[in-house]
Amino acid sequence: MQEAPSGAGRGRVVIVVEDNERSRRLARDVLELSGFRAVGVETAEDLFAAVVLHDPAMVLMDIQLPGLDGVAAFHRLRGDPATAGIPVVAVTAYAMRGDEERFLAEGFDGYLSKPIDVRTFASDLLAILQRREG
Ligand code: MN
Repeated sequence: MQEAPSGAGRGRVVIVVEDNERSRRLARDVLELSGFRAVGVETAEDLFAAVVLHDPAMVLMDIQLPGLDGVAAFHRLRGDPATAGIPVVAVTAYAMRGDEERFLAEGFDGYLSKPIDVRTFASDLLAILQRREG
């Protein structure tokens, strides 16, 4: 996978759900460098407020979160007609054999393992978005 050209994100809003501050900041920085507008939140509860506020093009979901976990948060988004159409990508340290299949079977639009690869992160997400946008 190639590096995304700068500006490729075209200002689209991506919400990064990540309770680890350094990981959240890294993901945001990489996204902003590729022309996305990145909004970071620490918990699923903050995510539900942020989706209403920001109408994101995509949500990046950490799975291990304090409180409601990323899988439960994903299902709550899917269960609400107002947010059911938002692409959601699992970004997680669960990177054992079978984990990608497990998250895709759960209904996530994509899966990326942590630590993220800063060179390919944005272009991987663009590819997932383009698949969803047809
Ligand atoms: Mn976490």
